[in-house]
Amino acid sequence: ITNISSKTLSEKDRKYLWHHISPYNAKADSMVVSKADGAWITDNKGNKYLDAMSGLWCVNAGYGREEMAQAAYEQIKKMSFYPLTQSHEPAILLAEKLNEWLDDDYVIFFSNSGSDANEVAFKITRQYHGQNGEPDRYKFISRYRAYHGSSMGALSATGQSQRKYKYEPLVSGFLHVRPPDSYRRPEGQSIEEFNLHCAQDIEQKIIWEGKETIAGVIMEPVITGGGIIIPHQLYMKKIEEICNKYGVLLIIDEVICGFGRTGKKFGFQNFGIKPDIVTMAKGITSGYMPLSATAVKKSIYEKFKTSSEYGHFRHVNTFGGNPVSCAVALANLELMEKENLTERSRTLGERLAKEMEDLNSHPNVGDIRSIGFLMGIELVKDKDSKEPAPPSYIGSIISECKANGLIIGKNGDTVDGYNNILTLSPPLSCTDEDFTFIVSLLKKVLKAHHL
Ligand code: PMP
Repeated sequence: ITNISSKTLSEKDRKYLWHHISPYNAKADSMVVSKADGAWITDNKGNKYLDAMSGLWCVNAGYGREEMAQAAYEQIKKMSFYPLTQSHEPAILLAEKLNEWLDDDYVIFFSNSGSDANEVAFKITRQYHGQNGEPDRYKFISRYRAYHGSSMGALSATGQSQRKYKYEPLVSGFLHVRPPDSYRRPEGQSIEEFNLHCAQDIEQKIIWEGKETIAGVIMEPVITGGGIIIPHQLYMKKIEEICNKYGVLLIIDEVICGFGRTGKKFGFQNFGIKPDIVTMAKGITSGYMPLSATAVKKSIYEKFKTSSEYGHFRHVNTFGGNPVSCAVALANLELMEKENLTERSRTLGERLAKEMEDLNSHPNVGDIRSIGFLMGIELVKDKDSKEPAPPSYIGSIISECKANGLIIGKNGDTVDGYNNILTLSPPLSCTDEDFTFIVSLLKKVLKAHHL
């Protein structure tokens, strides 16, 4: 394979491979990534880039870690595969370790992807309700602009309509409410008032829909793919209170926010709440192997401990909790603990926020939001109207960063026009030199581009 010329490989790529997200054949210049080390990736033409998106928010511990390669190798030699219809050591030890990270009593159901983990959460939640003559509940509430995955249930929970076009009708019973986007709050409302108002929207929805029909609320601690929307402390606490009041399960999607990204082990730990269910993927193995998990509060799991049909959770996933994936995840979590990567996320994030402060005077930087080593920079035409900056402007910033060796992201929702948020989510293991490179290049490029 290594002898194939880069031109041939690119031709074969266009001929045989269906890339994710990109429109068919539209990306004649797409990268064929062939090597990765630390925070850096190299394409098959030898170009190097600092990957400040961690390969779609995955590679928290950085690329090329010997520890993960070793863990995979040892586990493949010892016992390459057995499904979790029975059990195996790596899954047991990982479930125990996840409990430590979650800092509470959870039982873990393993799957392969973030979408899978959310589907499991929805099915468990629906099945949990309706015992002892109580009504079956089937509806879920999530937020507009949030992304929860691409399978039919997870897509139904997603609040970005451009992702649903052509795939409807989706799963019934999924409702959406306004996200706590404080930058675009109504004039005259304080951030606290606006966040409380958004939380109360959920209570209102529960009441209007019929409280005996609402099974769960699903949300990320911070909306990531929808544009780094960070709620106020009051918001999350209020939602927890509302869920408890109406017997609605609170599902927290940690697929991106988990594993140190927001400066805590899990994003919800920033807000002092105790979710009923936590879903996670990506950073669980730092992207080295496919794996996801649905962590379910012990008290909820207890309700399934009955021999009746009711208690039988009818969900199998052949590769979910694959022993090699679990062994790699364990190595990843141990490595993160050894290198204090969660703490590093917090300190790098604080430094990043400080370094970026002077961009607030840039005429097209409307808002800079960050938590841990995760940042969104919202670009606008002008600060008074807050009208989103046009795609051509945002595209030119991203292209110039890439031409100079830096990959950054762009997030939001194309339908409402707010696809105008530059995103940074670099590996938590990045070096001080990497950090300086990101900051200096991004600032230079932004300062050179005004609308
Ligand atoms: N939830 C969130 C918050 C995500 O960002 C994603 C993927 N980006 C998913 C769920 C779905 O994960 P996967 O692509 O592994 O199915």
